[in-house]
Amino acid sequence: MSDLFVRFWGVRGSIPTPGPRTRRYGGNTSCVEVRLGDTLLVFDAGTGLRELGVQLQRTRPKDLTVHLFLSHPHWDHIQGFPFFGPAYVDSTTLYVYGPRGDDKNYQLLSGQMANAYFPVRFSDLGANIVARSFAGTQVKAGELNVKCFGQKHPGGSMGFRVEHGDKSVVFATDSELDQQLLDPTVIARDPDAMRALPEDLVQAVKGADLLIADAQYTDLEYGTKVGWGHPRATTVVDLAVQAGVRQLALTHHDPMHSDRDIDLIVLECQERAAAHGAELEVFGAREGVTLKV
Ligand SMILES: [Zn+2]
Ligand SMILES: [Zn+2]
Repeated sequence: MSDLFVRFWGVRGSIPTPGPRTRRYGGNTSCVEVRLGDTLLVFDAGTGLRELGVQLQRTRPKDLTVHLFLSHPHWDHIQGFPFFGPAYVDSTTLYVYGPRGDDKNYQLLSGQMANAYFPVRFSDLGANIVARSFAGTQVKAGELNVKCFGQKHPGGSMGFRVEHGDKSVVFATDSELDQQLLDPTVIARDPDAMRALPEDLVQAVKGADLLIADAQYTDLEYGTKVGWGHPRATTVVDLAVQAGVRQLALTHHDPMHSDRDIDLIVLECQERAAAHGAELEVFGAREGVTLKV
């Protein structure tokens, strides 16, 4: 069976952060490509989407079909859309899957293209743009099955699980796991102890070959960011360990974090996985990196 191809186009959270401090991991906001043959799935339309569009127009300028999944409509997840070149091409078909099951998915994207904000109207885009809903919690996108699950985040967000045969990739950003701990006192008692998470959440990522997950804060930072919608990176490790995940890509890097800061978070998470006795491989998602799953 052929592999799933994954590429990170944007791994930053909250706002783009170009510059020398973020050169290695990248400054573009949330966007990940998952591909199987001609089936192209895109998760989130952050500013990384623009570069993906440039590459698609080079390699597949006509008759492109894109399945675009939006975790939620916060800026860092939609801001690249008006600059997505294939959306301007008549022969492009663009399916938009969002947190709502009707043409409100359009409105999430078109709102930011209102006259005061952007010179091109959504209705003037050339592509055939189709809003799609999840039938229950699962949808077929080209050759691939995608399941969705709700996450704890201001206004709500969705995680997605792509399955192909026995392979699976989960995209789960903007999820405040620390507000879902079964025992919230565990961290004060023993920060190294395993933090148990609800069974439905564990099931959603169970056995994933690759989990791409929000890991925005250090333990220290989280104390002043409770309720902001993002977890301690260390808690994401515990979710991955409980679910028997094979590879964990930490993403949605905080705009205040330099490359060096992210290196330290990755190291801490690798050590935590090892301390739990897990064979989990942990790395920091970096713009431009491709993987086969
Ligand atoms: Zn975000
Ligand atoms: Zn958000």
